[in-house]
Amino acid sequence: MSACLFCRIVAGEIPAQLVAETPEAIAFRDIAPKAPVHILVIPRRHVDSLTVADDAAELGAVAQLAARVAVQEGIATSGYRVVTNVGEDGGQSVGHLHFHVLGGRALGWPPG
Ligand code: AMP
Repeated sequence: MSACLFCRIVAGEIPAQLVAETPEAIAFRDIAPKAPVHILVIPRRHVDSLTVADDAAELGAVAQLAARVAVQEGIATSGYRVVTNVGEDGGQSVGHLHFHVLGGRALGWPPG
């Protein structure tokens, strides 16, 4: 059993609302959505954060899946945001690389 929460979701040990998947990545709904559409896109392989992401193809697959999910969720035309929080100041609370896909309302900028 993996200790990492998102590795456990990848393994199917913890349920998640999957919205899309590829051989390299999965996308599932955030458990505490901050916008009408809030999906997390993660590599299947454990990677701590963007800082140590070392596989460009894998990172590309995650980014492409984020864009595909935005289209699928109907927010590509109205607009959306993809963000990855890194470390303490970045507000990262789960130590497995994830891209947030947020949309369905006008998003504030700059972030708090
Ligand atoms: P971050 O704070 O950037 O590391 O993002 C972690 C995100 O994971 C937060 O938005 C949480 O709401 C979300 N989250 C935590 N546990 C789960 C879970 N079991 N299923 C789906 N999303 C989760």
